[in-house]
Amino acid sequence: MAKKIQAIRGMNDILPEQSPVWQYLEGTVKELLASYGYDEIRMPIVEQTALFKRSIGEVTDIVEKEMYTFDDRNGDSLTLRPEGTASCVRACEEHGLLYNQTQRLWYTGPMFRHERPQKGRYRQFYQIGVETFGMPTADIDAEVILMTARLWKMLGLTDQVTLQLNTLGSNEARAQYRDALVEFLGARKDQLDEDSQRRLDTNPLRVLDSKDPATQALLADAPQLHEYLDDESREHFDLLRSILDAAGVQYEINQRLVRGLDYYCKTVFEWVTDKLGAQGTVCAGGRYDGLVEQLGGKPTPAVGFAMGVERLILLLETLELIPQEVLNTLDVYICPVGEGSARAALLLADQLRDEHSWLRVQTHCGGGSFKSQMKKADKSGARIALLLGEDEINNGTVTIKDLRGEAGQETVAVSDAGDWIAREIF
Ligand code: ATP
Ligand code: MG
Repeated sequence: MAKKIQAIRGMNDILPEQSPVWQYLEGTVKELLASYGYDEIRMPIVEQTALFKRSIGEVTDIVEKEMYTFDDRNGDSLTLRPEGTASCVRACEEHGLLYNQTQRLWYTGPMFRHERPQKGRYRQFYQIGVETFGMPTADIDAEVILMTARLWKMLGLTDQVTLQLNTLGSNEARAQYRDALVEFLGARKDQLDEDSQRRLDTNPLRVLDSKDPATQALLADAPQLHEYLDDESREHFDLLRSILDAAGVQYEINQRLVRGLDYYCKTVFEWVTDKLGAQGTVCAGGRYDGLVEQLGGKPTPAVGFAMGVERLILLLETLELIPQEVLNTLDVYICPVGEGSARAALLLADQLRDEHSWLRVQTHCGGGSFKSQMKKADKSGARIALLLGEDEINNGTVTIKDLRGEAGQETVAVSDAGDWIAREIF
């Protein structure tokens, strides 16, 4: 036998039994986004490598180590998108969506990063992302955060996630702070962990989220980002906080939260859970007023976030928060046995769909005894089975069997089957 070819490590199949959960999450998010008037945008999965290098930053984990980059047949360097923000900005610029207007956009799809696969961390993973453009004030920062808070409510996750909030200030304020931090840490370089020593030269703010205890201890006496905030950023942050306070959304200010990407300024936030181990961030975002210009457009304020779909699904599964009706994908299973029954079954199934478009009906195909078909009906999760045997075919009837409830079994005229089901069962 030929050797079987397997999927690439860290790239998962989403199997039929998992799909209802994905559809439930995606459906809930779509409902949420529609209720805020956000519009969908779909971008290609592959972009020019330069797009990500320029936006995410040369000295970030993503660009240094995680991108799937390859040469196209004509020699262009292309990259499988590691995130959606850069592509979204590129698309908006390319199609003039940012000129003298505001945008509230969302997208979903796979992202690709060459990381070490583990629970909650994959090489192909899905994000649902939101990006807004053209709004400089903190009201829109608040809106996107309130939107995520509402999603947790819809999913039953409110008590399971906490909001970590910080402000990075303006680009100028951050640059001043960076200098002060480098001066402080530079004098103590030998006490830093290896990664932080390297980052001190390349991306010093990232030293703040080092996991190394010695580095963390050192940071206790380091200059604080908030001491360097400019007035405008401070007011921006105050307005954001006052809206969150008024809306009853709780948060923790985390001055060490800097996010991995270069393009953030002012607001940054993460929603974190302690139920998923090390991969606890389920949603992350912030303001990126400089990015559009950095990619060749006019200066355009922007705020966005991205959620990790796999992590949210893991969380819902771990906490058993998936409603049972989501997992049931069938209402009626039709079992035909004997001469003429296959034809009658398929016609009956269509009759039921015509009468009640919400009914989910499956007809058993492929033959077999009542006994084996009933087993399938049971396994299908359907609420009721419809039996079409010789007697039923001859009499123009169908036998209805309640597989899970109290309605028992009854034989009715085929023409009455839909009404009976709607009246007695659903
Ligand atoms: P982490 O610190 O966990 O590596 P990140 O800061 O790299 O996350 P972002 O680029 O902000 O992540 O992406 C937003 C969200 O996408 C994350 O909060 C997470 O939920 C999800 N995510 C990121 N990388 C992965 C991955 N490799 N596998 C699964 N989900 C991921
Ligand atoms: Mg990462």
